[in-house]
Amino acid sequence: MTVETEAGRALIQGRLYIGGTWCEAKAGGRFEVVDPSNGELVGTMASARADDAQAAVDAAAGAFAAWAALPAVQRARHLRRVAERIWAERDRIAEVMTREQGKPLVEARGEVGMTAEYFEWNAEEARRVYGDLIPASVASKRLAVLRQPVGVTAAITPWNFPASMLGRKIAPALAAGCTVVCKPASATPLTAWALFECLDAAGLPAGVANLIAGPAGPIGDVLLTDRRVRKISFTGSTEVGKDLMRRAADQMKKVSLELGGHAPFLIFADADLTRAVDGLIASKYRNAGQTCICANRLYVEESVAPEVEAALAERVRRLRVGPGLEQGVDVGPLIDGDAMTRMRAQVEDAVERGGRVVCGGQRAEVHGHLGGHFFAPTVLAGLPRDARVAREETFGPIIGLWTFRTEAEAIALANDTPYGLAAYVYTRDLGRAVRVAEGLEYGIVGLNDPVPTVVQAPFGGMKESGTGREGGYEGVLAYLETKFVSIGIGEAPTA
Ligand code: ADP
Repeated sequence: MTVETEAGRALIQGRLYIGGTWCEAKAGGRFEVVDPSNGELVGTMASARADDAQAAVDAAAGAFAAWAALPAVQRARHLRRVAERIWAERDRIAEVMTREQGKPLVEARGEVGMTAEYFEWNAEEARRVYGDLIPASVASKRLAVLRQPVGVTAAITPWNFPASMLGRKIAPALAAGCTVVCKPASATPLTAWALFECLDAAGLPAGVANLIAGPAGPIGDVLLTDRRVRKISFTGSTEVGKDLMRRAADQMKKVSLELGGHAPFLIFADADLTRAVDGLIASKYRNAGQTCICANRLYVEESVAPEVEAALAERVRRLRVGPGLEQGVDVGPLIDGDAMTRMRAQVEDAVERGGRVVCGGQRAEVHGHLGGHFFAPTVLAGLPRDARVAREETFGPIIGLWTFRTEAEAIALANDTPYGLAAYVYTRDLGRAVRVAEGLEYGIVGLNDPVPTVVQAPFGGMKESGTGREGGYEGVLAYLETKFVSIGIGEAPTA
C-alpha cells in the first residue's frame, strides 16, 4: 500500500545504503522530511546512529583494496553507468529535490544534470591520474612519483544543493580509487537516497559508496575518530567547517572544506548595465539566494547607482514567488523558519540604521501556501557599511546596495570580509577587468558572468571560505596521495 500526502503524492521512505544493501537503521529510528513550501510531510528517512556509521565505515574500508586495484578504465565505466542512470532518472530526482528543498523544478533539473556531469567528467579524469618520472642525479637510481588513492573518505553535504554537492565529492573520490561514506543534511536526505538508487542500479561494487543520514553529532564522531577514514570533504557553514578541521587535526586527516561566502558584485559605470542587472538577478535570486556563491553585497559606481537601483527594483518586483513545483515560479521558499527569522532580522537592522527598503522586505504571501517559508525578493539601499547585510552571509533573497567612486575603493570594499569564495565584476574596460579580477581575494571570479560553476573548473574559496578545490582536474587530485619511490638499480653490468 502506498501512503500518500494530502496533495496525493506518494510519501517517500528513504533507507540507508551500506555495503551495497538498502537497510533501516539498526535501532530502527526514522526522521521526518517536510516540504518548505507548505509544511507537509514529504516522507521519512532512516535515522542512522553511531553503530550505523561504523557499519558504513567498515563497508567502505572492506571495499577499498579491490576498488583501488581496479584498472582506471573499469572504474571509469562504473562512473559512466552512474551518469547514465542519473540522466534517465533526472525528472524523478528533481521532483524529490523540489519537494524537500523547495527550489523551482527547472533549477532542480539543472542541478541533477550537473550531478550527472560530475560523474561523466570524473570518468574521464579517472584515466588521467598520472605519475612522474624524475631525472636522477646518478646513473644508479630512478626516481618515480606515484599518485595513489587516499583511502576511505567521508562526504558531508548541505541541503542547498542536495544532489550536486554529493556528485562533486563521490565522483572524484571513486575516480581516484577511494571509497566513500556520505552524510547528507537532515533537511534533504531523500534526494541523496534517490541519487543512491542510481549508484545501486549502476552496479557499483558493494561498499564502494555508502549512505547514512541522521543526527550529525554521533555520525560525525565516528567519521572523525575512525582512523581508517583518511579524508573529510565537507560543504557547509564556516563554523562547522572550522570545528571539523580542528578535530580532523588529531589524526591529520586530509580535509577539503567548501564553506560560507559573502560575494561582492561590482558594477562599474562602463558596464553593460542591462546585462549587469540580469546577471545580478541570476546570481542573487537563484535557489532563493541560498547558495554560497550568490551575490550578497552590491557595489555600484556612484554615477550609475540611481539607474541601476531603479532597473533592479523593476526586475525584482516581477519575480514570481511560489512553490517550486508550480510552473513559472522564479523564487521558491526558504528552507525553514529560522531562515525567515534571519531575513527579518537583517531587514530590521537595515531600517534601524537608516537604510531604505527599495522592494520586498517582508514575508511573501503565496495563495494556498500558508505554511510556506516565502520571503519576498528584497533590495536594501542607503545602508551604513557595517549593517548586518554587509557583514553576514545572508543566505536568502536579500541584497544590499552601496556605492563607490574609484576602482581601488571598489576592490577594497569587496575584499573587506573574512570570506573569499566568489566575486562578480561587470565592466567593459579590458584593463580594469584584468586589474580587478587579479585584485579580488576570491577563489572564483565571475567577470561579466553571474553563474561561474562548471564541472571542469576548480571551485573553492580563499580565507575563511575554506581550503581545497573541487571540480576540474584538481577535484581528483584532492583524493590522491603523492608517493615518491626512489629506486636503486645498482651499477650497469660491465660488458
Ligand atoms: P547548513 O545547515 O547550512 O547545511 P551546516 O554546516 O550546519 O550547514 O551543515 C552541513 C552538513 O554538515 C550537514 O550535513 C550537517 O548535518 C553536517 N554537520 C553539522 N555539524 C556537524 C558535525 N559536528 N559533525 C559532522 N557533520 C556535521
